[in-house]
Amino acid sequence: MQVRRRVYLDHHATTPVDRRVLEAMLPYFTEKFGNAASRHHAYGWEAADAVEQARAQVARLLNAQPSEIVFTSGATEANNLALKGALEFYAERGNHIVTVATEHKSVLDVCRYLERTGKAEVTYLRVDRYGSIDPDDVRRALTPRTVLVSVMHANNEIGTIHELAEIARIVKGAGVLFHTDATQSVGKIAVDVEALGIDLLSLSAHKIYGPKGAGALYVRSKKQRVRLVPQIHGGGHERGLRSGTLNVPGIVGLGEACKIASEERESEALRLQALRDRLYEGLIRELDDVVLHGHPTRRLPGNLNVSFLDVEGESLLMALTDVAVSSGAACTSATLETSHVLRAIGVDEDTAQSSIRFGLGRFNTEEEVDYAIDRVVAEVKRLRALSPAYAARSRTKSRGS
Ligand code: PMP
Repeated sequence: MQVRRRVYLDHHATTPVDRRVLEAMLPYFTEKFGNAASRHHAYGWEAADAVEQARAQVARLLNAQPSEIVFTSGATEANNLALKGALEFYAERGNHIVTVATEHKSVLDVCRYLERTGKAEVTYLRVDRYGSIDPDDVRRALTPRTVLVSVMHANNEIGTIHELAEIARIVKGAGVLFHTDATQSVGKIAVDVEALGIDLLSLSAHKIYGPKGAGALYVRSKKQRVRLVPQIHGGGHERGLRSGTLNVPGIVGLGEACKIASEERESEALRLQALRDRLYEGLIRELDDVVLHGHPTRRLPGNLNVSFLDVEGESLLMALTDVAVSSGAACTSATLETSHVLRAIGVDEDTAQSSIRFGLGRFNTEEEVDYAIDRVVAEVKRLRALSPAYAARSRTKSRGS
């Protein structure tokens, strides 16, 4: 029986665990199973040592101090702690948050909750057609009551990278805290909390070839110490900022994933960018009416988000059973709502519905990319052959030429 091949090109959603990460984690499930908070025996010390090594590995990747890393269950929790924790601690300064319309739901939904419950007022900055914000808009949005500005580093749908250093200068100049959701950028592009001027930064292990259910929040203590009110109480773990028995295998995995990223990020980025360019060029060589979303150059190396005009994205996804990608409606696919990111960059409804997000990763090969090109081209041509809208567009074009 022939095994059907499958190609995974959805690395923004999650990544496979790197074998090296798995190897590092395994002992902490079995023989080294101690509770990192057990102070009185070797099992506990062993676990605590492993956690501290991981903390140093995460810190090194970010150019932070180990004491500035708080382990969480992932980026969603880190974002919740950053936003709610800062707002609560600095309540006497004000209750205003500035963020961006294209943020991940784990920032936007926290903001909506804080607004709904009367705990915060939120300004949502608009983006241009590439998904970038104008730093002057940040300046204009600040008020004497602004506590925090939260701007993601790289967008999870269209890959656009924000100019964090410039934005941070404005925010810090006004004495306001600066948080970034760096879930998609950590391990993919340089993330240096000192060079970028970041106070709070969220990251997640499962986007960098680590396990699901582990992540961290960087909380600045150097120069100007940032304080937060914890959102999970009980036991006082993580210096009181995040109680709960530490997920030692997960944390070890996150640390190992960060170590590998520190060593391999630069060469991997070049390889992924070349693969991404090969994918895009392969698609536009064979297909017309392909629209690129996001910034043409300031984007994540492994990200490609395009619309195949007159092709329903969902139909294309269904047809591509052997190539795993996402549609522009993926983040809310239960409701099939158009992506809020594509809407924010001004993409019309039909074009948004025909968008596909490709996310290339560590283990993808040229051969897989070529296979994906062949499959996508074949399915787009087949679906377009059935599309009256495409036929009408082609007639108009040939009359025009
Ligand atoms: N922020 C961004 C930009 C993301 O892409 C994701 C994951 N889709 C998250 C936050 C949430 O991360 P986690 O799955 O670790 O909660």
